[in-house]
Amino acid sequence: MAAGPKPNCLFCQIARSSTSTTLLHTDDKVVAFQDINPSAFRHYLIIPVKHVSTVKDLQRNTEDFNLVSHMLNVGQDLVHRDAPESKEYKFGFHRPPFNSVDHLHLHCFALPFIPRWKHVKYMSMGPLGGFIEAEKLLQTIKP
Ligand SMILES: [Zn+2]
Ligand SMILES: [Zn+2]
Repeated sequence: MAAGPKPNCLFCQIARSSTSTTLLHTDDKVVAFQDINPSAFRHYLIIPVKHVSTVKDLQRNTEDFNLVSHMLNVGQDLVHRDAPESKEYKFGFHRPPFNSVDHLHLHCFALPFIPRWKHVKYMSMGPLGGFIEAEKLLQTIKP
């Protein structure tokens, strides 16, 4: 896993609080903030403080498994707290080449998607990649 901030990576800058982005959660491992372009009733991103490019850079080991579990826990707490009235939640990652930013980020949704067609951006496309649910990713990197 790559360590240290990557020059010109927007999410590394956000993780170090060097932007005006409002952070909804910070700890020594992850930060959370609202998606710049929300696709749902609530749409938050959870990112690791250290630079990890994509899900392809995650290894099957305790460190990476714990990191992703922690991202998911933080995301679940956040959306359940902020949108307890939502009937459905969704948590997952884009797999390259469908990822928009090359710094690992967990999408957390309190549904519905707004507008509804936005759900196509967050669909699994089987072997082609697309979106992978956080729980599914955890199974693949479980040590
Ligand atoms: Zn980064
Ligand atoms: Zn994404």
